[in-house]
Amino acid sequence: MRRKIVAGNWKMNGSKDLVQQLVGQVREQVASLDARAEVVIIPPALYVDSVVALCGSELVAGVQNVSQWQSGAYTGEVSSDMAKDLGCQYALVGHSERRQLFGESDEVVARKIEQVLASGLTAVLCVGETLEEREAGSAERVVASQVQQGLASVAGEQWSKIVVAYEPVWAIGTGKTATAEDAQAMHADIRRVLAEMGAPSETISVLYGGSVKADNAAALFAEPDIDGGLIGGASLKAEDFVSICRAFP
Ligand code: 13P
Repeated sequence: MRRKIVAGNWKMNGSKDLVQQLVGQVREQVASLDARAEVVIIPPALYVDSVVALCGSELVAGVQNVSQWQSGAYTGEVSSDMAKDLGCQYALVGHSERRQLFGESDEVVARKIEQVLASGLTAVLCVGETLEEREAGSAERVVASQVQQGLASVAGEQWSKIVVAYEPVWAIGTGKTATAEDAQAMHADIRRVLAEMGAPSETISVLYGGSVKADNAAALFAEPDIDGGLIGGASLKAEDFVSICRAFP
């Protein structure tokens, strides 16, 4: 059985007040969910400490990004070891906003994956094609290449600490979601690529992200290769986020 996961990526949103309200509400409401899915809160790094303190046994925390270096003179960076030290269990790597706005290459992404694994966190590798790439018919090739390059150094037991999130760039924050069929097809393809790499592909969770809302999550999560979601906007309201956490068949 693959792990079901719903992760809320707050991006650069939130405040001390929001942390107190939202994490408390989500925790309370998720407590009755019967632990169907692991629920992950991924706030901005400055708030990780206070989120972890509020997670209890119902929630876990993650970071949105880590440095490709372990420690040292890298002003402004946050290391994977620090995230682990604060009690995080997950780290996003290669989110499309990092790739597009901060110039993260597949090579940098691969180095970050290595750091995350070295510190003992679970890495969530984010992949996804742009609208131009989809329209040009190269979505599968682009995503396969991101998976192959990002996870090039992963081997053996380390695969148990890898999650992949398919987030088509054109679906992020746009209100446009991939159809459940299109998302399923890409997830199956990602699993095929993982198998080709020698990974235990049937055990690796592959999440969908991109305008997941309370009203489309059930159709997505009903697909056999979609193991949960990476949620942006809808993770900032407890009611919406918890509805998504409840959307597994
Ligand atoms: P939205 O759910 O706001 O489209 O964001 C998706 C995302 O980028 C999560 O990492």
